[in-house]
Amino acid sequence: MTDNRTRHNLRLAIQKEGRLTQQTMSLLHTAGLEFESYRAQLFVTCRNFDLDVLYVRDDDIPEYVAEGVVDLGIVGQNLVTEYGFDVRDLHPLGFGYCKLVVAVVDESDVLASHQLEGGKVATSYPNSARRYFDSLGINVTLIPVRGSVELAPAIGVATAVVELTATGGTLRINDLRVVDTILSSEATLVANPLSYGEPIRRREIDRLLVRLRAVLNAKTHKYVMMNVPREALERVQQVAPGMKSPTVVPLADPDWVAVHAAVREELFWDVIEALRSAGATEILVSPIEKLIM
Ligand code: ATP
Ligand code: ZN
Repeated sequence: MTDNRTRHNLRLAIQKEGRLTQQTMSLLHTAGLEFESYRAQLFVTCRNFDLDVLYVRDDDIPEYVAEGVVDLGIVGQNLVTEYGFDVRDLHPLGFGYCKLVVAVVDESDVLASHQLEGGKVATSYPNSARRYFDSLGINVTLIPVRGSVELAPAIGVATAVVELTATGGTLRINDLRVVDTILSSEATLVANPLSYGEPIRRREIDRLLVRLRAVLNAKTHKYVMMNVPREALERVQQVAPGMKSPTVVPLADPDWVAVHAAVREELFWDVIEALRSAGATEILVSPIEKLIM
């Protein structure tokens, strides 16, 4: 029996302070959730949604979600993979991009991972590293380190590292060179499987997901308006497959129409070029605040 009086708000764990924090907050705020960004508290309650936001260390998020301490978490896929807890990956969020790589010192002879056979590899991702080397049948000794992994080769602790990198900047500063990529990661929304399986919770989670998706879609689309000679309309619609359900509006001049459409960012320039050669003129492009599809 569910007692509505004791039924707690939906709970979402996010990183308290770190690389994911700012973009996580900005995503939630843009999705219209109003809450205090003051992180001296352990958790805050949204003013306009039945949601509690918990500020925690990112490493704790997969476990909290799996154990049901919270219903949802926003965390790097790298940590979900590393810890292997049972969580449901609901939606990638388009930020926090990074890669888990194998790297060696610049002057090393090693060009491929198998040349590390019998060697020592420092990492704070022992599970992911172990799975990688095992899958290739490479025998290495893993040296677990917390933080400053990239210093390990310099101080002779290991000949290689398995470490996260986004731009490669930190690796370069430490004279490290990437040998192979183990996995690519971005921040993702994960759910406790029981919460997601329970109808009432599921509805709440889906309500939140609709809002987040609207923001994410808006970020990946542009709104395009253009004038098209009526006789070119069919061609324009054909050459622009990246356009989602274009709206066609008659203009004062009966030979012309206005076409409005959302265009995926990654197809954007291709679509614009195709539109122009198909006869579109006065192409106006603007950002989208929310896009609910
Ligand atoms: P916490 O104090 O919460 O444990 P942390 O120092 O372990 O923080 P951060 O360095 O803030 O964690 O990284 C959080 C996440 O950001 C990583 O797990 C990863 O998903 C992502 N990330 C994006 N770019 C990078 C990068 N260049 N290096 C490390 N992590 C990155
Ligand atoms: Zn951490």
